[in-house]
Amino acid sequence: MRFSGFKVVKEALTGHRGWTPLWRDPAPQAHYDIVIVGGGGHGLATAYHLAAIFGQARIAVLEKGWLGGGNIGRNTTIIRSNYLLPGNEPFYEFSMKLWESMEQDLNFNAMVSQRGILNLCHTDAQRDAFRRRGNAMLLAGADAELLDRDGVRAMAPFLNFDNARFPIKGGLLQRRAGTARHDGVAWGYARAADQRGVDIIQNCEVTGFRIENGAVKGVETSRGFIGAGKVGVAVAGSSGRVMQMAGMRLPIESHVLQAFVSEGLKPVIPGVITFGAGHFYVSQSDKGGLVFGGDIDGYNSYAQRGNLPVVEDVAEGGMALMPMIGRARLLRMWGGVMDMSMDGSPIIDRTHINGLFFNGGWCYGGFKATPASGYCFAHLLATGRPHETAAAYRLDRFARGHVIDEKGVGAQPNLH
Ligand SMILES: Cc1cc2nc3c(=O)[nH]c(=O)nc-3n(C[C@H](O)[C@H](O)[C@H](O)COP(=O)(O)OP(=O)(O)OC[C@H]3O[C@@H](n4cnc5c(N)ncnc54)[C@H](O)[C@@H]3O)c2cc1C
Repeated sequence: MRFSGFKVVKEALTGHRGWTPLWRDPAPQAHYDIVIVGGGGHGLATAYHLAAIFGQARIAVLEKGWLGGGNIGRNTTIIRSNYLLPGNEPFYEFSMKLWESMEQDLNFNAMVSQRGILNLCHTDAQRDAFRRRGNAMLLAGADAELLDRDGVRAMAPFLNFDNARFPIKGGLLQRRAGTARHDGVAWGYARAADQRGVDIIQNCEVTGFRIENGAVKGVETSRGFIGAGKVGVAVAGSSGRVMQMAGMRLPIESHVLQAFVSEGLKPVIPGVITFGAGHFYVSQSDKGGLVFGGDIDGYNSYAQRGNLPVVEDVAEGGMALMPMIGRARLLRMWGGVMDMSMDGSPIIDRTHINGLFFNGGWCYGGFKATPASGYCFAHLLATGRPHETAAAYRLDRFARGHVIDEKGVGAQPNLH
């Protein structure tokens, strides 16, 4: 089934009886060439790229719950490539370019909306840092503009410009950044992977790895043993627990991150806006709700729900930036488990076990990375070599001292 405007009109006129399920519900086979553990955005994008770009067959994605139940369906939907460091910026710009063609590639409306992101600065030193970041972005082929205070006021007149404590001095704008419908991205990749023969198996939890003579032979699951030539793990917040089953300890901690949505309002916020003097960011969904968030909860947890002190902290950030947010009623909130790495950057690498590959450490920035993460992990799984934009995401970089510390805060996962 192909989606098109014609199909929508035809179904509207004929009682919507022609829609079919987006993917099959196959029983697991005894053996696959490649098994991907984790049916989140990254696992599904990996399976899609393996089949569509790298010509691989006999692929399965094993998901312990349902598609979209993890962070892919819990994030605040921001996509951007405004990074500074050479290990990161080319990768995230590659991802941005893949976002720009994704809906056509997948024949699926993921509501990718390039409405821009504006990072506010409140001091002269912060403006200097943004100028440097903008230049790094331009060098990597991304777009960046430095706005002065009047430029910001023209875009977002409702901000609190004269807050004595946090005066707004300007902002770094990336116009090609924006938002996408998060669970729609999972469904789009799932459908396109399924069409290319990938078996997507939900309610199938991986409970162990079968490893013989230093090589992975398959995975134990809640639906029996499944043999595999190669296994790629992409389980985000569950990375530590899953890789522990292969005897590995990761440079990753799991923390809760919360998201908030207000009642629906008329259009007011033009794109994504981030506060530069605290951790608060906000955008407006197509349904009108203000979508916002801030810091992680700051303690290790595998619970997909957060606590009230961070709710207060996020609300304070919002009030300092745009006092009118105090008039909006909070509609709902939720939490997801983040795989916080020690330097704030991800890992896409092979492990010391032959045939076992790992993708994780996305902290709270992995949604924007979904297309490139899938492409680069598929590249590694299919060719055995890292993709050029992901070559720095090595697992041993912490031992070698080659960390990619975008924020410069050291091994403090709760601060990345
Ligand atoms: C509140 C919040 C806001 C965020 N905002 C943004 C944002 O604005 N922009 C951005 O770029 N990023 C954001 N992120 C981060 C982003 O969502 C994640 O980094 C990214 O989604 C992680 O990759 P994933 O989609 O593959 O993860 P997931 O969707 O969590 O996928 C992992 C899957 O693995 C499955 N799994 C776990 N264990 C097993 C097992 N043993 N067997 C089988 N399956 C298993 C899980 O059920 C899950 O479905 C946010 C995250 C949260 C929680």
